[in-house]
Amino acid sequence: MASAEIIAVGTELLLGQIVNSNAAFISQELAADGIYVYHHTVVGDNPARLKEVIKIAENRSDILIFTGGLGPTEDDITKQILAEHLQKNLVTDDFHMNKITDYFASRSRIMTDNNKLQAVIIEGSIVLNNDYGFAAGMFLQNNRHTYILLPGPPSEMKPMFTHYANPLLIKENGEKNVLESKILRFFGIGESQLAADLNDLIVTQVNPTIATYAGDNEVIVRITATANTKEAATKLVDETEQEILRRDGSFLYGYGEASLPELVTTLLLEKNITISAAESFTAGLFQAEIARFPGISKIFKGGMVTYSAETKQSILEVSQQVITEKGVVSPECAKEMAENVRRLCNTDLGISFTGVAGPDSLEEHPAGTIWIGLSVKGHEVEAYQFVYGRDRNHNRRRAVKQGFQLIKQFLDANT
Ligand code: ATP
Ligand code: MG
Repeated sequence: MASAEIIAVGTELLLGQIVNSNAAFISQELAADGIYVYHHTVVGDNPARLKEVIKIAENRSDILIFTGGLGPTEDDITKQILAEHLQKNLVTDDFHMNKITDYFASRSRIMTDNNKLQAVIIEGSIVLNNDYGFAAGMFLQNNRHTYILLPGPPSEMKPMFTHYANPLLIKENGEKNVLESKILRFFGIGESQLAADLNDLIVTQVNPTIATYAGDNEVIVRITATANTKEAATKLVDETEQEILRRDGSFLYGYGEASLPELVTTLLLEKNITISAAESFTAGLFQAEIARFPGISKIFKGGMVTYSAETKQSILEVSQQVITEKGVVSPECAKEMAENVRRLCNTDLGISFTGVAGPDSLEEHPAGTIWIGLSVKGHEVEAYQFVYGRDRNHNRRRAVKQGFQLIKQFLDANT
């Protein structure tokens, strides 16, 4: 399979003034194409060093993708240097030239000569239209190499890559193979643990490939396989999936793009189950998360933030006895909070969060000790304990996700 190298040109990148997000974007797209990326290179706006980089890249990669340096200024040198290196002429692309002249004419502004430079391309290349700017992109095949030149600004580069460069790349490199990929989503297991469990699969992977990504308290695994037919590629993916699930299937919560909160809110909406929340140390994070999803007012009725023991009593009607005898970090308190919020908000389901966010301990419970209560109409109220680390805000976010996971497990088991 073809290998690609992404060459980002720009001194600002080397100075750390901007981050090379273009390479990240293009890499993700190429992974989906089944094209391997073995090198990301960053080079300044310097002719000699750019030439050197081109030579190195030609020795080790089939496809060279450049971003940056297509603009009208003195330091924009990418196409000039590549043309020199390939001993090709620069010619004018009429489409982009007209676009530039029209723009200046329509604004009655004087066009300086350097603006015309943006319509200049390397002879023999296919022009990649710039729908959001003036600098023309290029796709050039020469001596077993493919060269793609894209502008630096992501707002121009991304649409040019997606709409014009990528289809050409797939046509040249992806045609012989069908690519299938599947995303598995896990909660409750760290990326390092999952990677360790799958290590033998990951290190020997060729086809399918397995990639793990750490999300916000979630881990995502992407399995990608190529084969001659769709059926064969799907079979490869499925076999690897089965092996992964055999090892860590108990942590799987879903497939594809939907995050855990999104998946759970979709289920609640589908099943028309109303929900309310009582939050102590998460202080509204759960409710803020649930409110991100449009249409949620059909099932989300509201809730309370009761941060102190007093408000747990005065607003949420948690009993004095539970507070004094069991404390606020207790299953009894979590249960009463969940039951009471469900009653006060008149919902099918009530969830509660109480615990020690950290970094200090509370009521002799170490930081990271949390209880989540779940009260559902027609079911016995439950409280679940989790023990996390000392990082306060990590604990708060993780508890919120854990709450969604408990609701998911309840729905899976009961509906
Ligand atoms: P322009 O016509 O704006 O000069 P250009 O194609 O010449 O575009 P550069 O001059 O190299 O590109 O960069 C222009 C801007 O694009 C940078 O200031 C930066 O904001 C953004 N940019 C360039 N390269 C990257 C990159 N690799 N990742 C993210 N942003 C980038
Ligand atoms: Mg520039």
